[in-house]
Amino acid sequence: MPSYQSWGRLPKAAPAAVQRPHWRSELADLDLGRAPALPYGLGRSYGDCCLNDGGLLIDTSQLSRLIHFDSERGILRAEAGISLEQLLAVIVSRGWFLPVSPGTQFVTLGGAVANDIHGKNHHHAGTFGRHIRCFELWRSDGSQQECSPDENAELFRATIGGMGLTGLITWVEIQLVRIASPSLQMERVRFRSFDEYLALENESSSDYEYTVSWVDCMRSGPMRGLFQRANFTEGGSARKTRRPLCVPFDLPSFALSSSAVKLFNQSIFHLQRSDRISRVTHYAPFFYPLDGVRDWNRIYGKRGFYQYQFLVPNEAEEVFREILLRISSSRQGSFLVILKKFGKATSPGLMSFPREGLTLALDFPNRGQTTHDLLDDLDELVQQAGGCVYPAKDARMSPESFQLYYPQWKEFSRYTDPQFSSSFWRRVTAGAVT
Ligand SMILES: Cc1cc2nc3c(=O)[nH]c(=O)nc-3n(C[C@H](O)[C@H](O)[C@H](O)COP(=O)(O)OP(=O)(O)OC[C@H]3O[C@@H](n4cnc5c(N)ncnc54)[C@H](O)[C@@H]3O)c2cc1C
Repeated sequence: MPSYQSWGRLPKAAPAAVQRPHWRSELADLDLGRAPALPYGLGRSYGDCCLNDGGLLIDTSQLSRLIHFDSERGILRAEAGISLEQLLAVIVSRGWFLPVSPGTQFVTLGGAVANDIHGKNHHHAGTFGRHIRCFELWRSDGSQQECSPDENAELFRATIGGMGLTGLITWVEIQLVRIASPSLQMERVRFRSFDEYLALENESSSDYEYTVSWVDCMRSGPMRGLFQRANFTEGGSARKTRRPLCVPFDLPSFALSSSAVKLFNQSIFHLQRSDRISRVTHYAPFFYPLDGVRDWNRIYGKRGFYQYQFLVPNEAEEVFREILLRISSSRQGSFLVILKKFGKATSPGLMSFPREGLTLALDFPNRGQTTHDLLDDLDELVQQAGGCVYPAKDARMSPESFQLYYPQWKEFSRYTDPQFSSSFWRRVTAGAVT
């Protein structure tokens, strides 16, 4: 039986039961019993929004059929358990791509909707939810409701970014985007300060569909990193490279000592010979660099890890710098640190995380209280800046923090299915009266 963990491998949670319907018609036979239910995609959320300790998990992996693909207009309807990898295998060769893609293709369509995911093109395209034409929602009372911006519009808004709490999405219809080839023309530029980084973002935002940066979080001096920008290209012939590697066992903790990470970060920063390189690349290594290493989450060892993704408004630049400083002086960070400037496009979901500003996502190996203390400190700064933390990545924020980040949570709870809940939801609403 699959283990039903989250990607960060914490918190540990065990569902009391798992049901894996093979057909949408079988949903009517689900034995919901008295324990709360929760849909489970591919468990690529880092924390507990996909976990349901003591409850029922509805594993959607068998609901993965393509229902309809209009390859002239790029409109695709598929069951919610299909993975983005499966979708790409069908659409790319026909000249289409996902309107928004996260950093891994091992995510289901349902999971992409339920966390209203964002990608490297947020400044152009906004979130995934903006490209949904409609979906069907199955509720525990047996009803099946088609939702779109015009039909059941409130349920539509609550379900996008609704973390699986409004019911089970059975199928989704999205609008794809045209591409001329599977390759991108990509440029990677070294930056040595926050101002240099901002200048690169600003000069690239109108001409480049995709931008993203890697930051060296172990550095105590000015921020430094690598800025990438890219567009799909017409004449590219770059091939998908290498067979995936895999991490066969949990690495011991010394592999993640601060000196090892510091050394690793230095080598990433200096890996490219010049300050600016340009090349044609296949979409897979560009969008999904980590998918080339299966089970890479095992590098953090048995204790698992936290990912912390926060966002602060553009005006809160000083707080952003302060957060970076705290992270580097804590020496707890790791090598996976991703920085992105979100654009103005509003997210359609009531509970969606993305909004205009700067967002940083980074991993922290789990060192117990020391890690919790640091993340609590960061939460205070994020709150001071009027920002928020991404629930899809969270396994530890307090109810007070959550309710400050998402004051609309009470309104949202009016739309949750009375038989659905998650470990995350129980944690962040503990003690609250809805
Ligand atoms: C390497 C990596 C990179 C990532 N990069 C990004 C990124 O760039 N941007 C970003 O936004 N996220 C990113 N993520 C997070 C990931 O995209 C989200 O957590 C996504 O929701 C995971 O989808 P999943 O299918 O694995 O769903 P799960 O993690 O299994 O579930 C996620 C949520 O969706 C709900 N859900 C799943 N299926 C359904 C359904 N059929 N109906 C209703 N609810 C459902 C679950 O109940 C749960 O609340 C990344 C994750 C990894 C591991």
